[in-house]
Amino acid sequence: MKRIAEFFKHIIKAGFTAAKVRARDAGLIELPKQVAKGANCLNCHWWKDTNNRDVGYCNHPRVSMFVSEKQLCNLWNSNGVKTKWGSGEVVGLEEYKNLVPDPPADLPFDLSGGVVYTGEAEVSRAKNVNLITLPKDIKGAACFNCEYSSSMGWCKNSGVAQPIQKDYLCHYWDHPNAIRSKWRGLNSVQEEKVRDKTKREMKELRQKLKNL
Ligand code: SF4
Ligand code: SF4
Repeated sequence: MKRIAEFFKHIIKAGFTAAKVRARDAGLIELPKQVAKGANCLNCHWWKDTNNRDVGYCNHPRVSMFVSEKQLCNLWNSNGVKTKWGSGEVVGLEEYKNLVPDPPADLPFDLSGGVVYTGEAEVSRAKNVNLITLPKDIKGAACFNCEYSSSMGWCKNSGVAQPIQKDYLCHYWDHPNAIRSKWRGLNSVQEEKVRDKTKREMKELRQKLKNL
């Protein structure tokens, strides 16, 4: 009997360990209270305001380019984040260079208001950190609005495969309407249309806000 109990204890421990390893590899975190509605570039530690209120500059050395509040990448980080693979806060919030260039006047945006990258080096950096534009109706990313979350509080992504809470987030966050324009199939004609539409919509939105 004792042997059977030991065996099951071993199995349960191995299951927990495997789940922790998956959580670590997926970067599974619990969002701090102040961003429990979702993560985006604007509430990320690496965002710096520019003179243009619609865009910021990402000071993370692996990104180093203009981003908008509608964007998100795998390096998102903030004070108060808790990891789901061990105790303590995410490391890496060391001091960084306070570089804040002025955005060029013709900075292109995609349909949801994310910056569209055109230079090869920028596209490559964006791809490497999975820099996406959040869908129009999503202000910030968290498990509750991720395509992999189930209503049972379980993550269906095989890289996570464990119970989750609505205010968790990991590197696999995704949604069918997330935009990865340069490395997920939009050709330049489609992009032109997207940019024109976005500019129009942003203008209309600003007008609406003015009229409130
Ligand atoms: S691009 Fe990534 S690191 Fe930079 S501000 Fe956005 S989420 Fe943060
Ligand atoms: S639901 Fe999405 S964001 Fe949450 S752990 Fe699963 S894949 Fe990651």
